[in-house]
Amino acid sequence: MMANFKSNKYLALKVALFYIFMATLWILGSDTVLSWIVTDPDMYMQFQTYKGMFFVIATGFLIFLYLNPKIKDFNKSRINLLETESLLKKRLDYELTTIECMRLLQEPGDIDEIMPRILKKIHHTVSNSRTYIFRNEEDTELGLCMSQVYEEVSEGIEAQIDNPELQHLPYSEGAPTLLEIIVSGQNYSHIVEELEEPEKSILKEQGILAVLIIPIFSGERLWGFIGFDDCVEERRWHEDDVNLLRVVADGIGEAILRRDSERELIESEERFKALHNASFGGIVIHDKGFIVDVNQGFSDITGYSHDELIGMSNYTLIAEDCRETVRNNINSGYEEPYEITMLRKDGTTYPARIQGKIIPYKGQYFRVAEIKDITEQKLSEELLRENEQKQAAMIENISDVIAIADRNGIIRYKSANVEKWFGWKPEELIDTDLFDNIHSEEQVSTKDLFLNILEKKRETFSSKIRYQCKDGNYKWIEFTGRNLLDDPIIQGILFNYHDITEKKEAEDALLESEKKFRTYIENAPYGILIVDENQKFVEVNETICIMTGYRVDELIGMDMFSRVAPQSRDEAVKGYHKLITTGFVSEELLINRRTGTNFWMRVDAVKLSDTRSILFARDITERKNAENAVLESERKFRTYIENAPYGIFIVNEKNDTFEEVNETACILTGFSEEELLKMNVYSRVAPESQYKGIQGYHELKSKGFSSVELKILQKNGNGVWMRIDSVRLSNGRFIMFANDITERKDAEFSLIEAKMLAEENNRMKSEFLANMSHELRTPLTAIIGFSDVLNDEIFGELNYKQKRHVKHINNGGRHLLDLINDVLDLSKVEAGKMELNREVFSISDLLGDIRESISPMALKKNIDLEITNDIESQEISADKMKLKQILLNLLSNAIKFTPDNGKVSVTAIKEDSEIKISVSDTGIGIPEDMHESIFSPFTQVDSSNKREYGGTGLGLALVKQFVEMHNGSIWLESNEGEGSTFVFTIEDLN
Ligand code: ADP
Repeated sequence: MMANFKSNKYLALKVALFYIFMATLWILGSDTVLSWIVTDPDMYMQFQTYKGMFFVIATGFLIFLYLNPKIKDFNKSRINLLETESLLKKRLDYELTTIECMRLLQEPGDIDEIMPRILKKIHHTVSNSRTYIFRNEEDTELGLCMSQVYEEVSEGIEAQIDNPELQHLPYSEGAPTLLEIIVSGQNYSHIVEELEEPEKSILKEQGILAVLIIPIFSGERLWGFIGFDDCVEERRWHEDDVNLLRVVADGIGEAILRRDSERELIESEERFKALHNASFGGIVIHDKGFIVDVNQGFSDITGYSHDELIGMSNYTLIAEDCRETVRNNINSGYEEPYEITMLRKDGTTYPARIQGKIIPYKGQYFRVAEIKDITEQKLSEELLRENEQKQAAMIENISDVIAIADRNGIIRYKSANVEKWFGWKPEELIDTDLFDNIHSEEQVSTKDLFLNILEKKRETFSSKIRYQCKDGNYKWIEFTGRNLLDDPIIQGILFNYHDITEKKEAEDALLESEKKFRTYIENAPYGILIVDENQKFVEVNETICIMTGYRVDELIGMDMFSRVAPQSRDEAVKGYHKLITTGFVSEELLINRRTGTNFWMRVDAVKLSDTRSILFARDITERKNAENAVLESERKFRTYIENAPYGIFIVNEKNDTFEEVNETACILTGFSEEELLKMNVYSRVAPESQYKGIQGYHELKSKGFSSVELKILQKNGNGVWMRIDSVRLSNGRFIMFANDITERKDAEFSLIEAKMLAEENNRMKSEFLANMSHELRTPLTAIIGFSDVLNDEIFGELNYKQKRHVKHINNGGRHLLDLINDVLDLSKVEAGKMELNREVFSISDLLGDIRESISPMALKKNIDLEITNDIESQEISADKMKLKQILLNLLSNAIKFTPDNGKVSVTAIKEDSEIKISVSDTGIGIPEDMHESIFSPFTQVDSSNKREYGGTGLGLALVKQFVEMHNGSIWLESNEGEGSTFVFTIEDLN
């Protein structure tokens, strides 16, 4: 600094010398130069003036150049000096303020009076916009909060002390970062604009541009803070501001701490006083049993006045039997509480709790005893005990088991009835884990429930779990836990539970049955619908979907009448009404399918509750159709009965009476319908038909049908013949059809009479013929025999004429014999005297015999005879002679009525048990109208034939008889001129 100054000095000197030199040079030189240039004296003089002026200006300029910085420096140091002065003044102010504040804080007065004064002081010193103090308050829910308690503001600045938002404002809300900073003891000094949100907005709203906050600690505790706001300029806080505030803050903190402890002291003194005089207890200070001091409480207890008590012996106040105890306790310095009986002034006793202690009292050591009248306590203890007993009895007698567990699930209490229900003795379970006895499957979930309520006061959980009994079995219990950790008596989780095994089983059974019910519904062979009170379907099964063609989701919510066909709508609505009023209904409705087609549905509905009904639905279309068909057929039947041309009676099988009759029946009998319906089946049967009637009716009853012809008596007594055909109907009834057959019957009677007559005649005729034949045959035998003898000329020769006549006699005799034989045979048959002699023989042998005997005849007319035997079994059973006679008859006829060179063929075949033989020829044939009558005796086609062919007309009649005797039949196929074929059958019994 010195060196610098020196160099500056030399420089000035150098400059001065240089100037002088230059000025001298200028003064001397310039005149000379000027005189050289300017010769004119006037001009010269003028220039001389200019020159002088120039010199002065130049010199002035140079002086200015030199002095200017100096002046500036000077000014500057002058300002600095002023500033330093004001700074010093300010610091002094700050220091003074600090001292003043400290002094104020030392003052014993009320802090609430002192604080505003301090604020005013520092505010004045710092001259900011607002100075304030906030106090902290703990809030369990909101966390640490701040409230503005003191404030000082400059003129024109809005006060915030009444701003409710600055009262009990949580730090977390108002200034989250603030707390973090001040709690560590640091300052919070900021230009508001540079702050982060939300502080920036909060402070800006209050018009604050700069803020400085210093924490106030009272001992270790962050009591609050003191702060400055500047609302005029963005002030960067000076170190002095900070220092001032910090010192003040510390001072305040200390003052508060001091005052707090002072207050605590006062309070504790007051407390002590209050305690001393507390009415609930007495305090005695005594010296070896003699009372030195007592409180009011003790006077109150004993009934003695304070003065009476002073100096009194302790033992006067103690019941005799307790004095020894007290004495021992005093002597031994026993300091624990104990109970004794004490005496009042009036001689009465009272229980008391006493606790003695040695204390220094007024410089000496005395024994102070606290005495408490515990009469009431005893009483209430008694009461409590009683209550506890009651409670215990109650707990033991309720069915629920009561348990208390701590927050770790360790059982602290179990009611005794746990043994009754689960076999455990309570003491076995105390101190065990609550979850040990819970079934492993429910353990985790129950533990979760338990943990869930652990932090929630008075919260309850409930669950159904299995609890292990002592015998190892599990029982279902309903388990309820309640968080009573905060309850002063319970102080744990209170559980109660009871055995619900049976209930659970019932529930399970119910569930099972519900499941079954559901399966049943789903698989039911009929549709099931459940309807709600709004007549909408709420549940349906698959079957109804199949029936209707709707899906389940389409049916749910559908109106129950919406698919009923119009013709069934009324019935459906009425039915529903009936269901609601009577509880059930059955009806048959026509229902619309989804496809638009209809079907008949039988609905059986049952009301389940006020809101639910169940409908069982079956498709009965087929039955309905069948019913309709029955109805239709019944209708037809009835019309038929009514209009039948014969009488119809419907009879009840039970009582044999008529149940129904038709018009014709009335006409037939002459009775009215009413009259007939009172009669039974026998009522009008004529006596001669009674037997038949009874028989017929029995047959009807046993076989189910009968036909009888009975004589019935009409109302007017006339008898009419009726044919009665009866059939059993299905329903225990008979239907009888009655036809008037009187006319036919009459005709029949006359026929029978005629027949009987004819039969008689026939029999007589046969008998006559048999007799006659015998009578005829005897002479004929003689005629034939003797004519044979004559013809053989044994008794002499005959002439030609004689011989011819004898021949005629012989031929006539033979013919007559044949005839008589045939008549005889026929008569025998008709008289029933001809017998069938069956034998087993060979048919082919028979046919061979026949060929042999018939061949000559055929040969004579050159007729081709062909016999074919197609019968496999050779042996047959028949009357050999008669069969031979049949065949000979037919073959001789065939040959007889066939012209020469014709053909006759025989064919024998067997069909089942019948032998069928046909004899054909190529002869003259038989006209169609003769085919029947040809088998009657004496019938021949015509008389001319008779002459040409001869014969008796008995052959075929006999053949027919023989065939029929063999249970066979004979017929003929022939046309005139075209040949004939006779076919017959006989029964072969082989
Ligand atoms: P008969 O031959 O003795 O006259 P039948 O009773 O045997 O008696 O025959 C009755 C009649 O039936 C015959 O007279 C004849 O007119 C006719 N008749 C029988 N067999 C034949 C036949 N094969 N062809 C044509 N007519 C026949």
